[in-house]
Amino acid sequence: TPLSHIRNFSIVAHIDHGKSTLADRLIQMTGSLEERDMKDQILDAMDIERERGITIKANTVRLEYDASDGEHYVLNLIDTPGHVDFSYEVARSLSACEGSLLVVDASQGVEAQTLANLYAALDADHEIVPVLNKVDLPAAEPERIKEQIEEVIGLDASDALEISAKTGVGVPAVLEAIVKRLPPPAGGSREEPLKALLVDSWYDTYLGVVVLVRVIDGTLKKGQTIRMMGTEATYRVDKVGVITPRMVEVENLQPGEIGFLMAAIKEVADTRVGDTITDDKRPTATMLPGFKPAQPVVFCGLFPVDAGDFEALRDAVGRLRLNDASFSYETESSAALGFGFRCGFLGLLHLEIVQERLSREFDLDLIATAPSVVYGMTMRDGSEIELHNPADMPEVMKIEEIREPWIRATILTPDEHLGPILKLCQDRRGVQADMSYVGNRAMLVYDLPLNEVVFDFYDRLKSISRGYASFDYQITEYRASDLVKMSILVNGEPVDALSMLVHRAAAEKRGRDMCERLKDLIPKHMFKIPIQAAIGGTVIARETISALRKDVTSKCYGGDATRKRKLLEKQKAGKKRMRQFGKVDIPQEAFIAALKMG
Ligand code: GDP
Ligand code: MG
Repeated sequence: TPLSHIRNFSIVAHIDHGKSTLADRLIQMTGSLEERDMKDQILDAMDIERERGITIKANTVRLEYDASDGEHYVLNLIDTPGHVDFSYEVARSLSACEGSLLVVDASQGVEAQTLANLYAALDADHEIVPVLNKVDLPAAEPERIKEQIEEVIGLDASDALEISAKTGVGVPAVLEAIVKRLPPPAGGSREEPLKALLVDSWYDTYLGVVVLVRVIDGTLKKGQTIRMMGTEATYRVDKVGVITPRMVEVENLQPGEIGFLMAAIKEVADTRVGDTITDDKRPTATMLPGFKPAQPVVFCGLFPVDAGDFEALRDAVGRLRLNDASFSYETESSAALGFGFRCGFLGLLHLEIVQERLSREFDLDLIATAPSVVYGMTMRDGSEIELHNPADMPEVMKIEEIREPWIRATILTPDEHLGPILKLCQDRRGVQADMSYVGNRAMLVYDLPLNEVVFDFYDRLKSISRGYASFDYQITEYRASDLVKMSILVNGEPVDALSMLVHRAAAEKRGRDMCERLKDLIPKHMFKIPIQAAIGGTVIARETISALRKDVTSKCYGGDATRKRKLLEKQKAGKKRMRQFGKVDIPQEAFIAALKMG
């Protein structure tokens, strides 16, 4: 295919605005897939993704399209993840194409991730075609949303397309617009030495590591010895091909084309996204501007409920890592929880997804400790430390300065929820940077410590706005801060898994909240249990769980035998998920619930 007949594009949108539905529809309309193979969401391969309606791994598909000008075109669609945690994957996918469809739900309008994704596409020098989706909905207001796009984004929306990805209305015009309005790949040369961008890679149980590439110059073919310029590793290419979305082998990949290669690559971690792939014998003179590797920003400990499951957990995290280079782990031992792993994630959603996959795919019962951000510390002796785990906090006397990551958050919300949202941001040490209006929606820009956002900020935001506020963030800088380590003592024993770094001004309230919650979450025992929050040796909050006096079943349920049996069964089932701390049993739920701060 000549360059003039190739279009590489992606679809960017706020979550749920219909990106995957449109992608499926485009695949279906270009006949790339027979109807019977059409699953609900083809590009969202994993079960969890499909259930939650989110796309985690960037995927690509090659479409063959006969345009109205009588010419045949190859359209490469690169799907991008839709959540803030994966903004890094969005950026790297976008750099492999020349244009984007900006999908906006015509009943919802512009949201926080519409903006974030659009800016990412503009950063990649993309040509943008605005697409208003869901015009089949009675609540759709395409004219108003067009105005909004022009007003907020400053993008000409006069020729925005109006479609329903669900019914298919207007989708043929999208295919025409891709050909007519998006540019072909900029000229590369077949004669030049091979230069290709490593866009993505994943581990396939049957095929091993598959590498997605975008060829810039030269030709990539089977049998060729390639060199990854960043890692300096060399491989012999076993297969090259395209994804339709079936994987189809081809002779070669040429400038402007997107496809996959396979070689005897052992781990996804051996393939660095953004790396330049070249010919080992005839290398290109210059590397492509590389990407920064994704850095985990949130850490937590994962421990098996049953200590005997440790090896199974080791096996499971190892297998997850095969396919997710942005997930990191190392062994950790906790006085309270035994052996487990300290794991790093791109963000909270990433953490949730990994936890869920571990319990679902590997059938493991886990205890997760409080998520923590990465703190920077300068010690009195001049050394620098990165702290991933509050339990490892050095002695306060030795610390010169503690720094924590700050984010810049963009929040869009209907006007009527503005008050509580401002209060939420204020309570979380937020500093307002900007506030403006988009029609009747407020757009807030806040600087916030990530530490205050990792627990439940997003959940709270959703609940106080009844789901209408949208949120996006970027880490901006590390700032020095007055942070202290708060320990939680149950029956006089510190529970290391519950210790956390908090801002001094917020410590007392946090401590009180935590003690109150734990009081409700830890069952009564035969003795009194003091629960304390402490900074250093100073107790800042305290609650007491009174002692159990009688058999709980006879007291609560009198003579009702079934209810009594049920309760006993429940207690038995609960036992499995309890951990012993000294003489006290703490249910697993207590850890999770205690850490969700109100
Ligand atoms: P994504 O998160 O951007 O990938 O969004 P999805 O494609 O998963 O769509 C989110 C939800 O919107 C799904 O329930 C879709 O069925 C629905 N949806 C997508 N396109 C349309 C449309 O054109 N009309 C209507 N009524 N619903 C749509
Ligand atoms: Mg999707």
